[in-house]
Amino acid sequence: MTTPLYGKYGGQFVPEILMPALAELEEGYQRYKDDPEFLKELDYYLKDFAGRETPLYFAKNLSKKYGTRIYLKREDLVHGGAHKLNNTIGQSLLAKYMGKTRIVAETGAGQHGTATAMTGANMGFETVVYMGAKDIERQLMNVYRMKLMGTEVHTVESGSKTLKDAINEALRDWVTNVENTHYLIGSVVGPHPYPMIVRDFQSVIGNEVKEQIMEKEGRYPDSIVACTGGGSNAMGIFHPFIEENDVKLFAVEAGGSGMTTTEHAALHSASLCVGEDGVLHGARTRILQDKYGQILESHSISAGLDYSGVGPELANLADIGRLTPRHADDDEALEAFHELSRMEGIIPALESSHALAYVMKAAQSGELGDLVVINLSGRGDKDLETVIKLEQGVKDEYP
Ligand SMILES: *Cc1c(COP(=O)(O)O)cnc(C)c1O
Repeated sequence: MTTPLYGKYGGQFVPEILMPALAELEEGYQRYKDDPEFLKELDYYLKDFAGRETPLYFAKNLSKKYGTRIYLKREDLVHGGAHKLNNTIGQSLLAKYMGKTRIVAETGAGQHGTATAMTGANMGFETVVYMGAKDIERQLMNVYRMKLMGTEVHTVESGSKTLKDAINEALRDWVTNVENTHYLIGSVVGPHPYPMIVRDFQSVIGNEVKEQIMEKEGRYPDSIVACTGGGSNAMGIFHPFIEENDVKLFAVEAGGSGMTTTEHAALHSASLCVGEDGVLHGARTRILQDKYGQILESHSISAGLDYSGVGPELANLADIGRLTPRHADDDEALEAFHELSRMEGIIPALESSHALAYVMKAAQSGELGDLVVINLSGRGDKDLETVIKLEQGVKDEYP
């Protein structure tokens, strides 16, 4: 089987020992993705466990202020408070059909780990989440949530004690236990077939938007805007619209505490805007690296956007001009966080606030057109402590 590429991106840049596991996963996915029984059970979980479909909400007050019709796709209303559960439901179910009894995952801020713990508990898996010691210290609530749901949280003490070390440990576990274990990746990243699998499970977002916007407006939107860390909520809402060339797609990255040039890459998390080609976590993509090819750590107030790379398919869509990469910085995101709360009574996740911030910046320029859909990837309750500390000028909450 040859590995499909997204232009020059994607692939399987992994140690030989992982290849059989990836092949088995692809085979399992091809076997079950159209299986009526699998799809019926997937649908059941999405509906009764996750609470789908999520509303497409017309933000009347924002629309009035910014002079363009703005809709919010309410992924913040998914069980757990973000889009991440769409993917963990899909992959956990796939693992079950493939006869696996154990799930391993890595987590940075703990959001993906928590979503994995939810499906792990519900579907009866032994669930192990690897998390850097530093992240565990910073994210005690999510650690406790995972433990409540019966997940074993494994502290990673190696390297920088953060996400990338946790990924290495999770991979090591998978290789050792592949017989009964599925490795559940949290975004459209990693070696093939992960970017494809995660995109497909998240595409439920865009598929719903297609129907909902037709019903409400009788046409597709002029533009769709999504924040982008690894890129799963963006690919999920974009993918069903890729062939619709009149619909502009905007991927908004975190500009951290201010974007300038590539030399300042360490200040932000904008792989599409200023990254370079390289290999990260098993795939060729656009990443933040120094001139020696060392991965630079990204920085953003939103933990979920704090990733040094971006999914390979997004990198290619940016290269061929199908999507437009943009960015919003910490201050702009904070302002948007307040504005949506105040104007619509919806507290957005700091990640999603970047997409909102970009729309607020660009609405007047005409770039977005008259009908805009923003993917509201998550709710902001998890971020209140961060926001309070930021506003009190306590900067040690994030690097
Ligand atoms: C994790 C997360 C993101 C970023 O991940 P993507 O894979 O880029 O979607 C964005 N928003 C929220 C609320 C998240 O939890």
